Amino acid sequence: MSRPGLQPGDPSPAAGDTADNPAGDAAGNAGQRAGELRRLLNAAAHAYYVLDAPVMEDPVYDQLYRELLDLEQANPALISIDSPTQRVGGTPAESFASVEHRIGLLSLDNAFSTDELEAWYGRLLKVLDRDPAPGEALPALPLVAELKIDGNALALSYEHGVLVRAATRGDGERGEEITANVRTIASVPLRLQLESPPPWVEVRGEALIPDGTFAAINDERQARGEPLFANPRNACAGTLRQLDPRVVAARRLDFFAYTLHLPDGWQGRPTSQWKSLQWLAAAGFRVNPNAELCPDLAAVEAFFAHWDSGRRTLPYATDGVVVKLDDLRLQADAGFTQKAPRWAIALKYAAEEAPSRLLRLSCQVGRTGVVTPVAEFEPVSLAGTTVSRATLHNADRLAELDLHTGDTIVVRKAGEIIPEVVRVLTELRPVAAARLELPHACPECGSELVREEGEAATRCVNSSCPAILRGSLRHWVSKGALDVDGLGSKLIEQLVDRGLVRSIADLYRLDAALLASLERMGSTSAANLTAALAASKAQPWHRQLYGLGIHHVGEVNARALARAFASMAALASAAAESPDSLTAVEGIGPTIAESLQQWLATSANQALLEALEAVGFSLAASPAEQSQADPTGPTPLAGLTLVLTGTLPNLSRSQAAARIQAAGGRMSGSVSNKTSYVVAGAEAGSKLSKAVSLGVPVLDEAGLLALLAEA
Ligand code: NAD
Repeated sequence: MSRPGLQPGDPSPAAGDTADNPAGDAAGNAGQRAGELRRLLNAAAHAYYVLDAPVMEDPVYDQLYRELLDLEQANPALISIDSPTQRVGGTPAESFASVEHRIGLLSLDNAFSTDELEAWYGRLLKVLDRDPAPGEALPALPLVAELKIDGNALALSYEHGVLVRAATRGDGERGEEITANVRTIASVPLRLQLESPPPWVEVRGEALIPDGTFAAINDERQARGEPLFANPRNACAGTLRQLDPRVVAARRLDFFAYTLHLPDGWQGRPTSQWKSLQWLAAAGFRVNPNAELCPDLAAVEAFFAHWDSGRRTLPYATDGVVVKLDDLRLQADAGFTQKAPRWAIALKYAAEEAPSRLLRLSCQVGRTGVVTPVAEFEPVSLAGTTVSRATLHNADRLAELDLHTGDTIVVRKAGEIIPEVVRVLTELRPVAAARLELPHACPECGSELVREEGEAATRCVNSSCPAILRGSLRHWVSKGALDVDGLGSKLIEQLVDRGLVRSIADLYRLDAALLASLERMGSTSAANLTAALAASKAQPWHRQLYGLGIHHVGEVNARALARAFASMAALASAAAESPDSLTAVEGIGPTIAESLQQWLATSANQALLEALEAVGFSLAASPAEQSQADPTGPTPLAGLTLVLTGTLPNLSRSQAAARIQAAGGRMSGSVSNKTSYVVAGAEAGSKLSKAVSLGVPVLDEAGLLALLAEA
């Protein structure tokens, strides 16, 4: 639809307004944005339709297209003849003859939610003059729900039952004549299976490449060093445009028929879409079996919900459900808009990618002080949830994305996967946009951030940073750690902000009356919380260790360490005196050992351990935990605690420790009257003399091996 006096890419008349005129300025911005969107979408459509090599994800294209459409609808002066909203599909390629379609091939309008589907139905009823009086229920019209096959539309012309021409959709009015290629598709009948075929029939349907065939085609292309197809739809479009039909035949395309046009008054002409599908099947076409005649909109929504997940089991791609009014006479009454029928709509499955506008960059400081940049953007619906934030991981990723203020970004979230910013649409970057970088100072405490050489993470190293404290408290009370109910993030924030809690141990000094006076707390929840905190002191030793949040000591490592070292005292002396006994524990490598050593050597952490003991934590295994044998093999040393000292003749310290632990024994770094044996080698030091003075039995290597053999 061209407008008098409007040229391709004409700026909006508002674009020249001055900044003193805010309304004009807003319109000017809209004009500028529309122009940028038009250029970007036209380039994308060319890459998609003509080159068969898309440069953008389909849902991103769809959403930007929708944005342009909305801008144009709000301000029709912005419409220019070269807008992608003004035409169907792509331009026919020059290598094939261009043919005019007997009946135009239109596009479909999209609905991105069931609300939009219902709005479409409301509009349809209005056009048909069937909209209900206020208070009355919507009249139900039979609808056909079909899968929207993500392939390429074909127009097949039959004369007296014989296929005479096949064409691509092209721009909807003219397409490329690709009869020789289509004749190689086995599911396209060359002759209709009808006893008395009509003088002409126009059949429309979707050519496609099944997923398995697509993977094989790309494997072959990769082996030949050829560029890969982005997806089955593009592979199919590229194949249909092959100049050599033998290549097309080798790619084994498939075809589903879904629309039928017959001469007016032809005897036996179907009166509904559902009957048309049956007619097509009887004439020898492959009709997709996953279609349903729905009595009302609710049935359509149930069909959609089923295929939203069910589509993953199909061997070909579908990107939504096409909903069509069943009655062909009513279809004719409803008619067409410029681009699409009013009587049909494509309800798309939830997108996994979408464009959004970046609002700001924020930073999160975690319990280990790591600063994580987070992109905050306009909310978008992705994979069925609304998303407005995505982690950018670290400064490197931030730099790689090259984010600028006001950027339009592509965000992705697939199923349960955490949302991510995939890239920036630099074409839509506002003028004078500033590059975004991590701040130099901690956003929480203002101290200078540090990035060690070779490390990906930027950190706040101020141990009294409130963000680090909040993170440590959240971790301490979390499920896998001390599992304290009733101490959520909001309450932790209050406790830290008011200076009521300065360390984990302070939690255990809070009294119920004080807690009850805090926001959203009452006497019952305060009493429950103090009880939960008191009960947490009896949590097993490995949970206490994990709860401390030592870098690299996750749940599994904490369990292994707690099994090998019965108390924090044993662990601390092993870390200080025999680091090998740490690395002898399964799963504990030098990095973890070093992290433990550093943590234990830090005075603030030593103070924390003392404070925890002072409020009643044992920081040790209970006798019941200690007697739990390792069920994985013979455990002759179960329940025994051994200390290694000096150099053994054959076994290294780590080998000896590993064998002791494998046999169910516990390693300790210090000798006490709880020590079962001290294993002493050459140049044994003070531990040997302590063992002798306490009367702890002393073994040499041979003695240890004999003990291990007592299975
Ligand atoms: P469309 O593909 O959204 O819908 C219309 C088409 O649906 C019909 O032409 C027909 O081929 C197909 N279809 C499949 N099953 C059908 C059924 N059962 N009944 C009726 N029709 C059925 O519209 P469009 O105009 O072809 O183009 C828009 C599509 O192309 C969008 O998916 C868009 O994302 C994509 N596109 C992507 C880019 C990109 O850069 N990624 C660029 C341009 C277009």
